[in-house]
Amino acid sequence: MAKRVFNFNPGPCALPLEVLEKVQSEFLDYQGTGMSIIESSHRSAQYEEINNAAIALVKELLGLGDNYKVLFVGGGASLQFAMVPMNFLREGQVAAYCDTGAWANKAIKEAKLFGKTEVIFSSKEEGYKRVPKPADLKLPAGCAYLHVTSNNTIWGSQYHAFPDTGNVPLVCDMSSDIASRRLDFTKFSLIYAGAQKNLGPAGVTLVIIRDDFLGKAKEGLSTMLSYLTHAKELSLYNTPPVFGVYIMRLVLEWVKKQGGLKAVEKVNEAKKNCIYGVMDKYPDYFKGPIDKDSRSWMNLTLRLPNEELEKKFIAEAKAAGFVGLKGHRSVGGIRVSLYNAVPLEAAEKLAQFMEAFKKAN
Ligand SMILES: *Cc1c(COP(=O)(O)O)cnc(C)c1O
Repeated sequence: MAKRVFNFNPGPCALPLEVLEKVQSEFLDYQGTGMSIIESSHRSAQYEEINNAAIALVKELLGLGDNYKVLFVGGGASLQFAMVPMNFLREGQVAAYCDTGAWANKAIKEAKLFGKTEVIFSSKEEGYKRVPKPADLKLPAGCAYLHVTSNNTIWGSQYHAFPDTGNVPLVCDMSSDIASRRLDFTKFSLIYAGAQKNLGPAGVTLVIIRDDFLGKAKEGLSTMLSYLTHAKELSLYNTPPVFGVYIMRLVLEWVKKQGGLKAVEKVNEAKKNCIYGVMDKYPDYFKGPIDKDSRSWMNLTLRLPNEELEKKFIAEAKAAGFVGLKGHRSVGGIRVSLYNAVPLEAAEKLAQFMEAFKKAN
């Protein structure tokens, strides 16, 4: 058995051990085909089965009906920053964005390349310590869509309520919290998520689009950059990221086996309570920069009294088998990423380590 650490990496990050073992066990001979899945044609029966099963699992777990298309595309979530306005922002319309951190900013930067863009909320001046309350948001006239980032991976904030946008489509970057909790996913016209936080390896991006919104997509775009292409061809216009979709399917099956989003959410709640519990016990020592009602369950950010102690904390944690705790280089501090595949035991052990570190330092 390989020696495995407690992996708190922010992405790519921990995947369920069961899934990794399954991939390993069938890597050389996928279900009696005598070849690996990555040696098989993407037009083969075995890949068709994977593609269809992955689509069905996304819809089942998120509670989406047949009026949604589920796509698997390349280019990362970052390409979606451009594809959304390219496909949906028309002359005379305004795209509305909420600026809640670094990824939201990158989305805004791309939208500006394609048309009129309005930032209707920003917490930048407050150090990105919160996300907007739904009631704070006023949509501009002629609004093509409202774009939000459900979980701010770098800063450590998360929406716990989403605005009702009426007839205006709600678009969401869910890269770092998709499938981590129950939500009314039917509120969203478009959801996208790079796989490498909660769904699988890097290289595939999940895109979910409601049919009424897809019907508004521009025609005549570059073929690979048009949602219409991928929707029409069931993500098989060109060679899809086969290995990524295959692993995503296994991860989704694992989520289902846990008991679906309800069960996963319960474990995620217990995990975040371990860490925030210690932070709130010693608020002058483990300082949380995010407003309590905007705290993320996926990426928990904190500061120690000084940078020396933060360095020491990260080094001693690493020696004790807890890796990936260094905050993003743009914000510093500590970041504890508790994605779906991080077991409760990891959070419990880290909470104990935090207590012991505080006593010793
Ligand atoms: C990681 C991340 C991205 C970037 O994803 P790529 O697949 O690397 O392009 C975008 N948005 C959020 C919220 C993320 O966490």
